[in-house]
Amino acid sequence: MVENFIEKEINELKENGLFRELKNIKPLPEPNKAEINGIKALTFCSNDYLGLSRDPKVIEAGMKALKKYGTGSTASRYITGNNPLYEELETEIALLKKTKSAIVFSSGYLANIGTITALANKNTAIYADKLCHASIIDGCLLSSAKFFRFKHNDIDHLKSAVSINGNGTGIVLTEDLFSMDGDRAPVKEICSVAAEHNLTTIIDCAHSTGVLDASKTQIADIQMGTLSKAIGGLGGFIACSNELAEYIKNKARPLIYTTALPPAVLSSAIAAIRIIRGDKSHQKKLKANTKLLRKKISENGFIAMGDACSPIIPILIGNNKKALICSKKLLELGIYVPAIRSPSVPSNKARLRITVNAMHKTEEIEEFAYKLSKIKGFIQ
Ligand code: PLP
Repeated sequence: MVENFIEKEINELKENGLFRELKNIKPLPEPNKAEINGIKALTFCSNDYLGLSRDPKVIEAGMKALKKYGTGSTASRYITGNNPLYEELETEIALLKKTKSAIVFSSGYLANIGTITALANKNTAIYADKLCHASIIDGCLLSSAKFFRFKHNDIDHLKSAVSINGNGTGIVLTEDLFSMDGDRAPVKEICSVAAEHNLTTIIDCAHSTGVLDASKTQIADIQMGTLSKAIGGLGGFIACSNELAEYIKNKARPLIYTTALPPAVLSSAIAAIRIIRGDKSHQKKLKANTKLLRKKISENGFIAMGDACSPIIPILIGNNKKALICSKKLLELGIYVPAIRSPSVPSNKARLRITVNAMHKTEEIEEFAYKLSKIKGFIQ
């Protein structure tokens, strides 16, 4: 019975170009180089926007903690896992985000579902942008709140949803820099609609943290982020007031019922945030690389989606199978960019999600642009 169901589901995924297979990805010593299923390639898809996962100071900080404390944290933060490095890291995050408090979770996914389920219940109305990340959607569904999705970046649609459902306990959720589209939310306008209706705002800054100026999201009640992208490691966080932090520390089940992060991960994240706060050279290089890659993509006749400042540069393909072919052809040319398909993006909006980072060399960007032009026939 179950076998029949599984076979049918898998066949359907395959027919629709939606079947997912894990590739064998072996990072090579040079940044942005990897062996993908045995093929050596230049990667244009990592979220390590500043290249800090390979930074000597970040590695050294992790090694010191590894030697001092061992490999694991041995239990949840409420048992034996709350190493003093947590407090140090939370202080660094609060300084970065200019808030009174911060809480570190074991991943960004857990930070979103933990925070949303702690704040919402069946009497809450949640308004989330249509293109919000799966971890936000899952948090909303798990919370049993009344769940409304407003059209992407559409303030008028948000206003009308809020006015129909009235004031009361409610949450407005969006992303600062959208993970799959590379565009930015009108955070100021969203926060002012929320303030008018006494609603709490949560802004997911997973992709903007360390990449874009943080001042834009400081007006939100909660800035959520992750340590796994520009910070180069693993873990998630929220930055907020002391009062909210105290409440969430008591109510967020994914904070309470999971093992704390390994001390080495915490120590590396502290070092990475100190670099981000003290040295702007990585951001400058990222900005220059973003500008160059966007220019090269446009010169090749492609439409580079997203904001000019965004290192996430998707090229829309539409059809799933076509997107898979484009990704495969690029890999044959020694470039790795996976095809992103539903449910990560809406149906029929499959794309190549290209990302650039501070470690890409100018000649690698040029090589990428040249090879992208070679697969033009498959994209159009
Ligand atoms: N929020 C957004 C917008 C994301 O893109 C991601 C990760 O892809 C997450 C949250 C989850 O973060 P993490 O990968 O640290 O679990």
